[in-house]
Amino acid sequence: MSGSFSVQYTDAAVVGAGVLGCFAARALAALDIRVTVLEQREDVCTGITRANTGIIYTGCDNRPGSLKARMCVEASRSFDGLCRDLGVRFDRCGSLMLAFGPRAENVLRKKMGFGRANGVEGLRILGRDEVLAMEPRISSEVTAALYAPGTGTIDPWELGIAAYENAKANGVDFRFGQRLVRMEREAGGFLLETDEERIHARTVINCAGLSSDAVREMLEIPAVRIFPTAADYIVLDDTLRGFVKHVIFHEPEEKGKGLTLVPTVDGTLLVGATEREVPAGSRGGTDREGLQALSGLCAKVVPGLPLSEQIRNFSALRPNPYHVVEKGGVWVPADRSVNDFTILSEEGLISLIGIKTPGLGCAEQLGRHCAALAAGFLGNPGPNPRFDPMRRAPVRLHGMPEDARAGVISRDPDYGRIVCLCGDVSLGEIKDAVRRGAVTLDGVKRRTGAGMGRCQSARCMKAVMETLAEGQRIPVEDVMKDGAGSYVLEK
Ligand SMILES: Cc1cc2nc3c(=O)[nH]c(=O)nc-3n(C[C@H](O)[C@H](O)[C@H](O)COP(=O)(O)OP(=O)(O)OC[C@H]3O[C@@H](n4cnc5c(N)ncnc54)[C@H](O)[C@@H]3O)c2cc1C
Repeated sequence: MSGSFSVQYTDAAVVGAGVLGCFAARALAALDIRVTVLEQREDVCTGITRANTGIIYTGCDNRPGSLKARMCVEASRSFDGLCRDLGVRFDRCGSLMLAFGPRAENVLRKKMGFGRANGVEGLRILGRDEVLAMEPRISSEVTAALYAPGTGTIDPWELGIAAYENAKANGVDFRFGQRLVRMEREAGGFLLETDEERIHARTVINCAGLSSDAVREMLEIPAVRIFPTAADYIVLDDTLRGFVKHVIFHEPEEKGKGLTLVPTVDGTLLVGATEREVPAGSRGGTDREGLQALSGLCAKVVPGLPLSEQIRNFSALRPNPYHVVEKGGVWVPADRSVNDFTILSEEGLISLIGIKTPGLGCAEQLGRHCAALAAGFLGNPGPNPRFDPMRRAPVRLHGMPEDARAGVISRDPDYGRIVCLCGDVSLGEIKDAVRRGAVTLDGVKRRTGAGMGRCQSARCMKAVMETLAEGQRIPVEDVMKDGAGSYVLEK
């Protein structure tokens, strides 16, 4: 390794600041050690964590005895407490998994068996009339449903950002714009190299999402590789708030992907998700056929759903992990996609590879698991005596009672200036988001909801850009939408 670098020393280096890296950092911060996070992007939660379904599952989808099942049940039980500590909105709205015939009804029974074996409480199979009484907008063709009262929904990035802020407040050093390009073992640990820094770390926690296999392979031979597929989603306006009250899963009678409807904590309705192949290296983008497939499923499952209320669509990449074997110099999948969470611990290098659903809900459990492995490797350091698991949530005016709102505005008049009319977001909230670390339009959007509504930022973009420019002391032309080079104005 050569060149001019700044040199850092740390006990634990986390690679990647998605929801898993942020929770690993938070769990490590509870130990009396130095923790550094390297993130290639400008902000947290810009990868898989940015685009997913945001469901907190109960554990009835996971095979009894698996790590997923154990963590998912534990996560579901402790999620209210976690969200209270971190000031994150969580709606335990319950879910209905719908069947429209005998094949799907068998799947419901199998999932109920899994759920009961895993200790999930309150599961019931409902008949057609009970389903329609709970959700009258479901097609009357429905034959049965599995009711899981413990299912809930969150904003994924809200959870990740909260973990980031809490980890940072507890002393974790987040270093943005630092892409790990090389890693070697050295006496006492690892030497990590980005384009600007060298970091000597005693242990490394690899939470690099879609690149977690590549990061591991800087030191190890391939064992599990990620072969992504894409997912398409549609977001419907909050004028449809209450259209369905539960998360709706549709288990198709034919082979293929069903439909999921999520009444989000913001009041919008999320419709998803397809599954389709993507060319290697693709960064995604929605697919017309995928969106048409979703519309077709909606017509069957919720025939009255007005898709004209669509405000945007987006795509996501699923990090499907496969064991690999070498064939003719190429590493190819050895079997079906790995079903359980893949956590590899190799002499101080701990890798979370291809963590799919329910990785978001289990982020705290996965973070603690990594921290326990790291602690073992570091000789079991004591607890951090100053660790505080509580995070003060930012002010959110929308939905606040009038007198509380008036109190906030009297203390800071910027909270009385509504900038995002669709989401009811004030200048005060946007300034606060910038103070807390937002450096792009999407960073503000993820922290405040500004730009997420019907007009998709047409009315608030100018004010948000000016606030970002002022907060970072940069010309407004340098403000970016989401990541390097995504300038909004011509330079
Ligand atoms: C379509 C879809 C739907 C899902 N729905 C749900 C759900 O409803 N409920 C649920 O519980 N889970 C769900 N999940 C799973 C959940 O979203 C993931 O488990 C979780 O977001 C993974 O987070 P992560 O931190 O591993 O990855 P990311 O969020 O991708 O974070 C990885 C980070 O590493 C950084 N990075 C990569 N390489 C480097 C490098 N060399 N140097 C520095 N930084 C690097 C990236 O920039 C990125 O910020 C879903 C996933 C998908 C794809």
